[in-house]
Amino acid sequence: MQATLIRGARLIDGTGGPAVEPAVLLTARGVIEAVGEEAAARAAEASAVWDCGDQTLMPGMIDCHNHLSLDPTLDNYLHRMNDPLPELTIRAVNSMKIDLMAGVTTSRCLGDKGFLDIACRKASATGTLLGPRLLVATRGIRAPHGHGFVGYPFGGVEKIRSAVRENLQAGADLIKVYITGTLRGPRQILHFYSREEIQAVVDEAHRVGVPVATHCIGGPGLRLALEAGIDVIEHGYFMTDQEIELVGQYDRWLVMTPSIFFADARIRTLPPDLIEGHLRQREEVGQRLAAAIRAGVHYAVGTDGMHAGLAREIAYLVELGATPAAALQAATADAAKVCGLADRTGTLQKGKLADCIGVEGNPLEDPGALERVRTVILQGRLVKAERGASQA
Ligand SMILES: [Zn+2]
Repeated sequence: MQATLIRGARLIDGTGGPAVEPAVLLTARGVIEAVGEEAAARAAEASAVWDCGDQTLMPGMIDCHNHLSLDPTLDNYLHRMNDPLPELTIRAVNSMKIDLMAGVTTSRCLGDKGFLDIACRKASATGTLLGPRLLVATRGIRAPHGHGFVGYPFGGVEKIRSAVRENLQAGADLIKVYITGTLRGPRQILHFYSREEIQAVVDEAHRVGVPVATHCIGGPGLRLALEAGIDVIEHGYFMTDQEIELVGQYDRWLVMTPSIFFADARIRTLPPDLIEGHLRQREEVGQRLAAAIRAGVHYAVGTDGMHAGLAREIAYLVELGATPAAALQAATADAAKVCGLADRTGTLQKGKLADCIGVEGNPLEDPGALERVRTVILQGRLVKAERGASQA
């Protein structure tokens, strides 16, 4: 057996406990064989040692809401999702590497064009391209008159059924449906699909065991989503206290994506007609997301295409009132649950995949440590070794 011993200054295993010192992991064939004292006792089995020096070892992060081709560093970036497919594909390939190097070992992709995410998933799984393990939604399902820059328009129950089946045929891991826009209207939050249309999406996906996620900021569409059986609410920016309670009652996950409203750099590159609204509604979004955290809703976190930005999203959660440990779990153990991968990744425990990163500092004391990812190990493969992880 080709085993590897990985050492660091401290270890956060992702199960919610404090950091333990030192960090010792034994891995083989891409899987964690032992952790801590057991790993140290079996050190002689290792044929290689990766010493990460004073780094904190923790589970590889999971971006629970990503878009491979979305690039908020480009002006007018939402409209740039209409660029030619080869250009979008090149962007996706680039993003995958950026995300992985920033410590994201699993990425849940909520819609890209032309089924390019299927090809990216395969390329990353086979090692042809450097990138995180991908879960992909393929085409986002949106109403013809509704919101969804990374979606495709489908209206009416029968067209929606066909669209979902085509996504499934292509190999979608999950189905994404846009129910609302991103900004709220002056009086109410609009929703663009009827109860019957939402139900059709859920029925087609659930019949073959595939989960459904919805872009939904709140309002009457949120209730329809929950009643129809949608598994994960994405964004949830404007949920009232009653709606937050409802998400809790239905025991559904919320994936928060704060940077769309909080990162000035990202707001600057929005289409010009959207900038003012994002700035004006920022405070309300902050209050509502903080209320969801306080209420104890199960949540995970994603970048919505802000590549290399997951650390910042986690820091926003802490600013909104999450404890550093809970915010970290929103991108590790809890994120793995949202992805349906809790038995494979999200914590550093015996039997899990060896998805591990080394960061400079202790992220439980300073979330900023997550911006300093020095080591990335993806399923036992050392893919980044900066200042350390020297192979002894
Ligand atoms: Zn999105």
